[in-house]
Amino acid sequence: MRERRRIGIMGGTFDPIHHGHLVAASEVQSRFDLDEVVFVPTGQPYQKGGAVSPPEDRYLMTVIATASNPRFHVSRADIDRDGPTYTIDTLRDFNALYGPEVELYFITGADALAKILSWKDALEMLSLAHFVGVTRPGFELSDEHLPDHTATLVEVPAMAISSSACRARVVQGEPVWYLVPDGVVQYIAKRELYRE
Ligand code: ATP
Ligand code: MG
Repeated sequence: MRERRRIGIMGGTFDPIHHGHLVAASEVQSRFDLDEVVFVPTGQPYQKGGAVSPPEDRYLMTVIATASNPRFHVSRADIDRDGPTYTIDTLRDFNALYGPEVELYFITGADALAKILSWKDALEMLSLAHFVGVTRPGFELSDEHLPDHTATLVEVPAMAISSSACRARVVQGEPVWYLVPDGVVQYIAKRELYRE
């Protein structure tokens, strides 16, 4: 047994969750031998305005997509907190919950990592978790803007999928089969999400 448990945190809007998110989380879990990866759907993402699906729908799609993986879990921490979601609050909550016995690994795609210094209390954020930046088609993966030893870069299988493209496909009546898990395809249809 290791001295400290390792927990990955995969933050996202997950509107909807897709295979790009799942492959990233799975690769980082394996690479760092994480005990678990906790998916944390945002409450009201302050950068995306109000135009996102209800938190409960995004939460349920995340549960459906991760349910079969024994190392994947979903947290309500951000959707149950009032006000806009800031990752600094997520990391403070997780630190308070797990204490110093646990090492936190915060997983981000290349696009998110590039902008991370603009996030609220960025330097404190980088001190509360080790950041793992993963490759994402169309974006440059770099940690040159970050303080030394705060992040690790990981190459993951390229999945040219985004939630915005999935939403646009539903609007246009195109299929999202195989871009998102089957249960998520069916949930989107059942709740009539993304129809204009
Ligand atoms: P949107 O198009 O609405 O912004 P998205 O596909 O970017 O959605 P988010 O919920 O914004 O999904 O992303 C959550 C996290 O997952 C971010 O760190 C993002 O960089 C990462 N991510 C999303 N899609 C991929 C992908 N295809 N490959 C690697 N990382 C990804
Ligand atoms: Mg995004």
